[in-house]
Amino acid sequence: MLTDTHAHLNADAFNEDREEVIARARENGVTRIVNIGFNRETIPTSLALAEAYDFIWAAVGWHPQDAVDMLPEDLGWIEELCRHEKVVAIGEIGLDYYWDTSPKDVQDRVFREQIRLARRIGKPIIIHNRDAHEDILKVLKEEKAAEVGGIMHCFSGSWETAKLCMDMNFHISFGGPVTFKNAKQPKEVLQKVPLDRLLVETDSPYLTPHPHRGKRNESSYVRLVAEAAAELKGISFEELAAITTENAVKLLKLT
Ligand SMILES: [Zn+2]
Ligand SMILES: [Zn+2]
Repeated sequence: MLTDTHAHLNADAFNEDREEVIARARENGVTRIVNIGFNRETIPTSLALAEAYDFIWAAVGWHPQDAVDMLPEDLGWIEELCRHEKVVAIGEIGLDYYWDTSPKDVQDRVFREQIRLARRIGKPIIIHNRDAHEDILKVLKEEKAAEVGGIMHCFSGSWETAKLCMDMNFHISFGGPVTFKNAKQPKEVLQKVPLDRLLVETDSPYLTPHPHRGKRNESSYVRLVAEAAAELKGISFEELAAITTENAVKLLKLT
């Protein structure tokens, strides 16, 4: 039993062999996948996958990199899709100061609008944060995100930041980087995060774990993340897989 809380199975990288990739995840014990649609193109394809497979759910939201493309009516579109029984969260949303493809003020507005929507309709949120730790915390606090909580996806911040996020009702999700030899900080933070706040993910096709680093990532590799996490936590793989799945099921109602 394993849950990949963040995948992009709808990505073009899977166009040649998507069905095999999904089958391989199942064969490797992945019993639940949350697939993320994050802009006008990927929201419908993500939803289609969730409709086609009973063990895939969808999150829908507007990514900060695409913030400039979001039209006023898109917020209503996301709200409408949130009524779909397989849509379990709004995301991924947040701030990305690394790529900087959308101006910061536009990212800030789009992020805040989606948190307000999540609070209005009572959906958890999935947060994308790249080089924006301080502003993410500020916005989450100002917009009272604690009311809905959610997931800090592929967490890369400090323990201090993790604590503040958990204070605001968020779970901390780790991906491929915890399998890298040189990734000191995520490993240290993972060791400190309480088991009942811990999640694992792939963010596939990106962020491929060791020893496949440099190649395409896929949901079956969440096993490698979970194995690394179990070792860091000093518990068995089975235990870690069960606890993180239970956390995801409870938070996102994956039933
Ligand atoms: Zn992301
Ligand atoms: Zn993602």
